[in-house]
Amino acid sequence: MIVVMQAHAPESEVEAVIDRLTELGFDVHRSTGVDHTVLGAVGRTPCDPRALEILPGVRQVVRVSEPYKLASRTFRPQDTVIEVQGLKLGGPEVVVIAGPCSVESPDQIQTAAKIVRQAGCRALRGGAFKPRTSPYSFQGLGEEALRWLRRAADREELLVVTEVMDTSQITTVAKYADILQVGARNMQNYALLKELGKLNKPVLLKRGLAGTIEELLMSAEYLLAGGNYQVILCERGIRTFETAARNTLDLCAIPIVHKLSHLPILADPSHGTGLRDKVAPMARAAVAAGADGLLIEVHPEPEKAVSDGVQSLLPEDLFALMEQLKIIATAVGRRLA
Ligand code: PEP
Ligand code: MN
Repeated sequence: MIVVMQAHAPESEVEAVIDRLTELGFDVHRSTGVDHTVLGAVGRTPCDPRALEILPGVRQVVRVSEPYKLASRTFRPQDTVIEVQGLKLGGPEVVVIAGPCSVESPDQIQTAAKIVRQAGCRALRGGAFKPRTSPYSFQGLGEEALRWLRRAADREELLVVTEVMDTSQITTVAKYADILQVGARNMQNYALLKELGKLNKPVLLKRGLAGTIEELLMSAEYLLAGGNYQVILCERGIRTFETAARNTLDLCAIPIVHKLSHLPILADPSHGTGLRDKVAPMARAAVAAGADGLLIEVHPEPEKAVSDGVQSLLPEDLFALMEQLKIIATAVGRRLA
């Protein structure tokens, strides 16, 4: 931590800050300039910079190390590669996970799985427990839907990615899923994260609607601190002042996360835009920006979808997109899984 004192701060104030830092367990290195005194505080004590900023004579406090540890590149310089049934996430290959927003029927998910496989994707998504803004909207078909999802995926040799909304659902969802998704609304459900931290299955952690990148990494830290190192992040758009799209897909988060963390990060251009015709352009951009994979909604008949039909790709859209992604992945030194 670096504490910059106000210009010409009296010696008594500088000394009071040094005393406080020492009490907190920091080694203090003082540098006295013409106008400003700067204090370098070295140590591992967790400390809220605001607790120092309110001390008399302090102008600014700059935190040098990240508040998360296990999720940081400082802790682990090399990329984390998560291997799920032979599929590697976070390595040179870009992984595309596709499927409908919700699992609706055995036929719907089986047809979707065929499309996903035919397009060359490696994993099938589909929600059985749906976090909906309205309690009157379709809430998901629960365990029965998980069974249909697993069966469809197995037939097409795809992995299963599906959401878990609550601690009470973990055992059930883990029985069917290869990767458990924590949705945007649950990014800061710490009770859920703590329980998933004890699980020996990969977790796909989506960024919250109003979550900063630092908060996303702090949530990942909960999983890692619990002992689950199989964490995949996902940028899915955030709430901004812009209303032309459902969300603002923050693609800059991808290179930022890659710099700050060793964890893989996917992009979800479906929830990130909310509009079918915007999904492919943003999917292409995400791969160009270095995303380790994509989470995409596709539906055999989007107009009949019970949720998120307007942002679901038509099967032919997915086929065309996958061809384009192959070229883009190659252009950025990657390849499609
Ligand atoms: C989803 O992936 O279906 C979903 C609900 O996403 P999010 O949590 O990002 O809204
Ligand atoms: Mn959806």
